[in-house]
Amino acid sequence: MIIDCSKYSGKCSCGHEHPLETRMVVVEYGALHRFDEYMSQCGLTGRRTVLYDTNTYNLPGMVHIPADREIVLEANGLHSEKSLIESIVPQLDNPQVIVTVGSGTLMDFARYNANSLGIPFVAVPTLASSDGFTANICSVVIDGHKRSIPMHAPALVVTDLNIISGAPMFLTVSGIADILSKHISLADWLIAHLVSGEHYCERVAILAREAMELMNRSVAGLLRGEEPDFESMATAQMYSGLTMQMMGSSRAASGAEHLIAHLVEMKPPRFESAHGIHGECVGVGSVLAAEEYHRLASLGRPRARAFEPLDEGWVREKFGPLADGILAENAHDVLSTFDPQRIVDVWDEIVYIISQIPSAEELAGTFRDLEGKYRLSDIGIDESLKPEILDISSAIRNRLTLARMRRVLDFGE
Ligand SMILES: [Zn+2]
Ligand SMILES: [Zn+2]
Repeated sequence: MIIDCSKYSGKCSCGHEHPLETRMVVVEYGALHRFDEYMSQCGLTGRRTVLYDTNTYNLPGMVHIPADREIVLEANGLHSEKSLIESIVPQLDNPQVIVTVGSGTLMDFARYNANSLGIPFVAVPTLASSDGFTANICSVVIDGHKRSIPMHAPALVVTDLNIISGAPMFLTVSGIADILSKHISLADWLIAHLVSGEHYCERVAILAREAMELMNRSVAGLLRGEEPDFESMATAQMYSGLTMQMMGSSRAASGAEHLIAHLVEMKPPRFESAHGIHGECVGVGSVLAAEEYHRLASLGRPRARAFEPLDEGWVREKFGPLADGILAENAHDVLSTFDPQRIVDVWDEIVYIISQIPSAEELAGTFRDLEGKYRLSDIGIDESLKPEILDISSAIRNRLTLARMRRVLDFGE
């Protein structure tokens, strides 16, 4: 499959242009053998630095790309932290294009530095464990806080299914969960649009749903015991990433469920033992959010409650040393930007949107049958924290989700 990205950009009925930096996405067996051909088709010429880590460099079946400069970073301890990312600049040797061969972390190393140097970069994913490859979001830890900063997207993505298909199954399952989570993120986005008038785009939502449907069909095949359809699964990841690029934000791809993954990375007090890769945490987050959203829908129409800022004492208690960052993030709380009565007025529509989300049992059952993670305890979080986890995770990011809206709603409980 070769995705010509130009068909997703251009004037849209939502009023935006959706410019895409990614010109082409290749998802095929043996794609790396034709790497130079794809590079020249996209006009990506000039001095080339290729970035690997010790794992991706030595992957079975890896075809090493012709390079003017090759850098192999030690995989052990590699993480997306600003000073670590910036420390490799001298080694890059003034490239005109950076090619990165690896997963999300290595992708951020290329993305961040290509952004600073004002040059394009090319992504060669070695896993399909998340949807960040075609995105323009850099997830980087700055002064201890996880930040998702819009930066450049790869000009070209070359996915060789010979390599992707060799990845351990738990990584594939993590990627599945990252896409199935769009049930929650798309619901959150549409609900936010209805209540606050936040920008919404049907073209983007359709592409995100297409990713979800491709993944659903692949999962159904897997559960029937068929050979994994890596082409469909990887294409679903690429579509989802493109929605982020089209929006200039992760709005379509990341809602209340993704904040559980952020929580696991930040490790506030009582979450010190939390662990799990991105999609695994997102999967558990999706089960939690599905359960809570269906529960809210069953409670009947709520009453509006006046907005109150997050209580500083509560933030300090829940976030400890991370509290100042959380307070800053919530200084202009999105909940204060519209009348909470609006949520009550469109409650019937919200209930309908929730009815389209699979039940928590169904999502958990899918992840369980794929031998993936679906419970808090699977990602090192004590089940006793369940009643407050969505309150805590919602405070991490000032994004309008139904989970956050609960602060201005009274269900008479
Ligand atoms: Zn649009
Ligand atoms: Zn994700």
